[in-house]
Formats: sequence, structure tokens, C-alpha cells
Amino acid sequence: MSSVKAFGAASSESDLAQLSIDRRDVQPNDVKIDILYCGVCHSDIHTVHNDWGGTKYPSVPGHEIIGRVTEVGNKVSNYKVGDLVGVGCLVDSCRTCASCQEDLEQYCENGMVPTYNGADKHLGGHTFGGYSETIVVDKDFVLKVPENIDPKAAAPLLCAGITTWSPLRHWNVKKGDKVGVIGLGGLGHMGVKFANALGARVVMITSSESKRETAKELGAHDVLISKNSDEMKKHANSFDFLLNTIPVKHDLNPYVGLLKRDATMCMVGAIEPLEPMHGGLVILKRRNIAGSLIGGIKETQEMLDFCGEHNIVCDIEMINMQDINEAYERVMKADVKYRFVIDMKSLKE
Ligand code: NAP
Ligand code: ZN
Ligand code: ZN
Repeated sequence: MSSVKAFGAASSESDLAQLSIDRRDVQPNDVKIDILYCGVCHSDIHTVHNDWGGTKYPSVPGHEIIGRVTEVGNKVSNYKVGDLVGVGCLVDSCRTCASCQEDLEQYCENGMVPTYNGADKHLGGHTFGGYSETIVVDKDFVLKVPENIDPKAAAPLLCAGITTWSPLRHWNVKKGDKVGVIGLGGLGHMGVKFANALGARVVMITSSESKRETAKELGAHDVLISKNSDEMKKHANSFDFLLNTIPVKHDLNPYVGLLKRDATMCMVGAIEPLEPMHGGLVILKRRNIAGSLIGGIKETQEMLDFCGEHNIVCDIEMINMQDINEAYERVMKADVKYRFVIDMKSLKE
């Protein structure tokens, strides 16, 4: 066991501050990673603030981890010292249930182990995420990061990337489909890039007039301001698929009305009770409302490889670890283009 520097919160009321955490010694199947960069996901903020309940403190978030391998266990043959690797939202699962057998570890029926705030079966207590110097992870939950893409800008692929990629693939978004991405933040901006790369006609649906132009730079063909009911009316009954990334409780009704008959809106953002929805909206047009959780390890690797081939990365703003509390304030005000990434050098100095 070794003690490493990290940043975390002591309670739901406190700011994040430097602290020490323990990392296990490398076991036969483990990969030890020196963390270079870590993205700041809105889920980190929800967890630290205990928005979903069940946060264990101290809470050390971070599940968009990029680093270099510094040590491998004696049963690890697919990684070697020096490899550029990533770790996303999960670090273990049962591997035997139906979901694990189908490469859907995120839906593990015996409970997957999240990268932070999960049960640490090695050291006891709970798992600590990527706002730290190093991490030790089972080889089966480590991803290969293509060397041709900027590693800083690749970090958010590990959560924002896979969380948008997986539903676009699952609902078979294809050339010519009209796809709406709701909420232009960390997830939303990757949803636009991926839907565009898959050949869809992409409409960014934002609550911020100020994002109209930048959404087009990301690859949106059209922009719809959700507060403008005339604009919303023009697009009624026209979408093949909607990806909803809004992070808080909101009214679904105006969005559901945008779907064509039989089309689906997939929720990935608001993990909480929502405003009541009018049943007629789904009944009269056989519309679907669904949800999706991150993606499995195999699919995450496919997404990373796709990004390598198509040169797709995230639009990021680099921060030092010490700036994290201000960064959280800005994310909550939807004031980030489009993902903060922590340069972990700042923690090591
Ligand atoms: P983010 O960067 O904060 O982006 C969210 C965007 O939603 C904002 O930029 C804003 O875009 C819009 N928005 C915010 N508040 C709104 C409101 N009250 N009404 C309407 N729109 C609002 O967050 P993120 O990191 O992309 O994460 C989004 C959500 O997904 C979070 O709740 C996070 O916990 C969750 N998440 C889920 C999964 C999963 O597996 N399902 C994985 C990762 C994250 P506009 O300015 O364009 O309106
Ligand atoms: Zn996340
Ligand atoms: Zn399982």
C-alpha cells in the first residue's frame, strides 16, 4: 500500500482540498498508472454535493483518467510500462452475470464497482477517483488510448465520450437521421461530434442563446433555442432521435413533442425525479423515452479507436488541481467550453 496526494471533499458542504489516500500494491492482474490528466464531469459535482445521496466521504472524484503505465502485475500481458492508457467510470464488476457476459459491465447485476464512491474490495472503504497522482486498476478495466490524439483532450472521452457514443450506437443513429442533442456541455458537445461523424443531420438544442454559433463550429447543422417556443414548434414531430443531457430536474414535455412517431429520446443527464409528463405525448405517437448508462469496456475501446481513426477529441479548458472549486462553480453555471481537464502535474509539484 502507498500513500498518494489527492484532492477531495470532506463533506457535502466543504470545498475540495488536498488530502492523502491509499493505493493498493500492484496485484498479479493490476496495472499501476501515473495520472497525467483528469476530466471534470458534472457527475463529480453531483457526487461531491451528495445530490444523488449515498456519497461516502472523503470523496475523491474523477473518472476521465489518462495516464502512463508505471508497473504491471505478473499476469498482465496486454499492457507494459510506458503505455498511454485510460480509466473511465468503472474499475470492476462481477464478470459472470448476464450483463457482464454481454460486455455490458456498467449494468452488472451484482453491482459494478465505480471508479469513485464504490466499495473497495482490496483495501476496504470506498474507491477514490482520478483527482490523484496514481491509480491501480485491474487490467480488464484499463483502456488503450490511441497515441495519435492529444491525451489531454482525450480524457473526457472516458465518460462524456462513451456516454454519448453508446446510445447513438444502441439506437442505430445513421446517415441522414435527424438527431437532436439537448444541453451543450461536456456530454452534449461530444454527442454533436459523434452524431455528425455517424452522418446524422445534427440539431443542437440549447437553453443558451450564446452557444448558437459555437454549436455550429462543433458540427451542428442547426441550432434550436429551447426557450423559444416558436422555434420549438417548427421542429415538432421531426426528430429520429434525441439525446437529453440536461443535468437537473426539468420538464420533458416540450422535448418529447419534437420526436417523430416511434422515435426515442434517451435520457443520460437527470438521475432524479422529473416533472410530470403528459402520457398522451408517448401514447398518441408511440414515442419512446429511454435511458442509458455510460458504456461497457469493449464499447469504450471501440469508441476510443474510432476517435483515433477519425481524429475526434474533446474541446477542453485546462486547469490546475488547485482551481477545482472555481471550475465547479462555472460548470454549474453552464460556463465551460466544453470540459475542464485537470493537469495533474499541478498536484505533484
Ligand atoms: P455539463 O457540462 O454541466 O452540461 C450540461 C448542459 O446542460 C449545460 O451546459 C447546459 O447546456 C444544459 N443545462 C444545464 N442546466 C440546465 C437546465 N436547468 N435546463 C436546461 N438545460 C440545462 O454536464 P455534463 O458533464 O455534460 O453532464 C450532464 C449530465 O449527465 C450530468 O447530470 C451528469 O451527472 C450526467 N452523466 C450521466 C452519465 C450516464 O452514464 N448516464 C454519464 C456522465 C454524466 P445549454 O447551455 O446548452 O442549455
Ligand atoms: Zn462522468
Ligand atoms: Zn456482472
